[in-house]
Amino acid sequence: MIPLRGVTVFPGMILNFDISREKSVRAIEEAMEADQIVFLVTQRDPDENNPGLRSLYGIGVAAKIMNVAKLPKEIIRVKVEGVERGSLLGVTDEGGCLRAQIETLDDEAVELDDIEKEAMTRGLEDLLERYCQLNQKFSREMLRQLQELHDFEKLTMTVCVHLPMRYEERQNLLEANDMVERYRRLTVFMAREIEILQLQSEIQQKVRARVDKNQREYVLREQIRVIQEELGEDTLLSDVRHYEEAALKLQDSDEVKDKIHKESERLKSIGNNSAESSVLRSYIETLLELPWEKSSEDNHDLKNARKILDRDHYGLEKVKERVLEFLAVRCLTKKGDSPMICLVGPPGTGKTSIAQSIACALDKKFVRISLGGVRDEAEIRGHRRTYVGAMPGRIVDGLRQAGVRNPLMLLDEIDKVSSDYKGDTSSALLEVLDSEQNYRFRDNYVELPIDLSEVLFIATANDVHTIPRPLLDRMEIIEVTSYTANEKLHIAREHLMRKQLAHNGLKKDQLTITRSAMETVIACYTKEAGVRQLERRIGEICRKAAREILEDGVPSVKVTGKNLERYLGRKHSTVFKKNAKNDVGIVRGLAWTSVGGDTLQIEVNTMPGKGEFLLTGQLGDVMKESARTAISYVRSLGDQYGIAPEFFTENDIHIHIPEGAVPKDGPSAGITMATAILSAITGIPVRADVAMTGEVTLRGRVLPIGGLKEKLLAAKQAGITTVIVPAENKTDIADIQNEITDGLKLVYAGAMPEVLKTALA
Ligand code: ADP
Repeated sequence: MIPLRGVTVFPGMILNFDISREKSVRAIEEAMEADQIVFLVTQRDPDENNPGLRSLYGIGVAAKIMNVAKLPKEIIRVKVEGVERGSLLGVTDEGGCLRAQIETLDDEAVELDDIEKEAMTRGLEDLLERYCQLNQKFSREMLRQLQELHDFEKLTMTVCVHLPMRYEERQNLLEANDMVERYRRLTVFMAREIEILQLQSEIQQKVRARVDKNQREYVLREQIRVIQEELGEDTLLSDVRHYEEAALKLQDSDEVKDKIHKESERLKSIGNNSAESSVLRSYIETLLELPWEKSSEDNHDLKNARKILDRDHYGLEKVKERVLEFLAVRCLTKKGDSPMICLVGPPGTGKTSIAQSIACALDKKFVRISLGGVRDEAEIRGHRRTYVGAMPGRIVDGLRQAGVRNPLMLLDEIDKVSSDYKGDTSSALLEVLDSEQNYRFRDNYVELPIDLSEVLFIATANDVHTIPRPLLDRMEIIEVTSYTANEKLHIAREHLMRKQLAHNGLKKDQLTITRSAMETVIACYTKEAGVRQLERRIGEICRKAAREILEDGVPSVKVTGKNLERYLGRKHSTVFKKNAKNDVGIVRGLAWTSVGGDTLQIEVNTMPGKGEFLLTGQLGDVMKESARTAISYVRSLGDQYGIAPEFFTENDIHIHIPEGAVPKDGPSAGITMATAILSAITGIPVRADVAMTGEVTLRGRVLPIGGLKEKLLAAKQAGITTVIVPAENKTDIADIQNEITDGLKLVYAGAMPEVLKTALA
């Protein structure tokens, strides 16, 4: 007898097994010497080394030894074939091996009719079929052979032999006493096995499905990545991620966040190469750059503001007072709905620089938006994104530059905006400035409402008259007037010199310009209301001096009245001086232009003709009307001055105002023209040292005019000593510095006779 570990043999089954236990080896040897039959019985516990009757199953198989082979390490491989079942009755250990006492067992006979057998055979075949489908390891060939058997008993036995199973199971089948019982046990086993296999395969399928899906996604993603790399779109995705992250940092602006998110999604879907993508990108970037939530802390210290205004500007007392009042109110109300201020005055009088100082005093960011020549509404309100090259408007652009939502925005030259067929610029500006509307300003490009209510707007203009009326209503005008020569001198010595020296890299002691030289620069090299040309001239001197210091190695340069021409060239006689002698038909008028005051000479000639009336010198409509009024008034004086009535039908009158190409307009030359016409007709000369300004009515009344300060300044520069001013302007004189009026004889005229009395020699 050989006790088997972990295997069970079946009748008809061929089995190879190795033995090494001495007793088993001895048993083989003895059997080989005799009938070559061994009784094989399975141990209940495979680890038991010396099994006795109890530790062996009760039923085993008598088997014929087919082959014995010696392997290394004293192992013997035995090939056997099961022959018949036997019940183990007893075991003895004699002669070095185990000996079994057995009783051969035959299956008990069971009566089965053919139909039953057939049914059971088919049932088993079905099970086999399903088993085979589920267990890939079971060979198709074996299945085919089994199916061919088609005999109940053979099939059952063969299946028991060939179906892979654990030894306990096979032992269980071996122990069945009859075929039907064995069949039953086999089918139960198979059904269970099939169920397990099915479950196993389902689990496997699920696992595989999951693995497959992951795998698939991984592969697809990899492909996308490679494709995007090829198309240069990997930067797109990282950009989109960047946009979304930046958007998430915004805390309150949900509308903006949503918009950025939506546009980013669109950008992702259209990819990098379409023309639209760059439009979308710059749109998103613009949105991200705008200061939706950022603002700077204002400084409300008025004393500090005063200090800064004084530090940066000479004079301008009134302007400074007004600005400080404005700031005080703004500080107390803490709101942006105080009317905005507009600084009006000739160029170069420090408007921009005052605004800069205000920004500096309030610790605000400063942005300048130049409105000069803006005609298209879209420049202010932006283009719709559907246009090629669409951009946000200047206001939004300014906000972007400032980077905070409460900067000081300087609307430069607001009087120069004009409107054409492309929409109304002033109404767009109105929306910007109107505190009722500007907290939800809509820029066409940005599409989202932008809050401008915290922006401090300051406008500048040269001329109030050309500011569109509705805009004017919303602004508080602060007038900045022309500078006198003395003011210019102070500004030059106290501010411009310092600025230009630094600008040109010179130290303070390297260049001095004497007072008299500076006065000559102001008088002979500049002609302006402000100090811009003056600053440029000083810059010129600085550059020449810098060159001299480097080239000639001189330590410092001193500019005096004598050597000034070396630096600035020949003097220009910039002002139109008064005429040398009294003349007929020539009168000096005074004009105010947006660049300051000026004198203009009015010339009248009469000549034989047909009573015609000529006007030349680029005169505007208002001026032409006032010329006609003047003529009509002079005609009414005919009797008084002995002018023959036919004079006006037999002569032509020509009025000309030289300095030709400059357009001139306004009513204030009325009395000047009337005087010139009367002088020309009567032949009475007009005093050369008299200038005048004033509007005339048909009945000879003299009406008041504006810009008196500039006009007087111009008269003084021209060397005029007597100025005729409308009587109603007398109150304005109080505001004008003595420096200007000193040396001028002012004659206040309420009507033409007083004018003529003074003017005609
Ligand atoms: P505007 O804007 O009125 O055309 P700016 O503000 O540009 O004139 O002034 C031109 C230059 O003159 C600037 O350098 C400015 O600092 C200087 N300036 C003008 N007025 C004064 C002043 N009162 N004191 C000091 N500098 C002045």
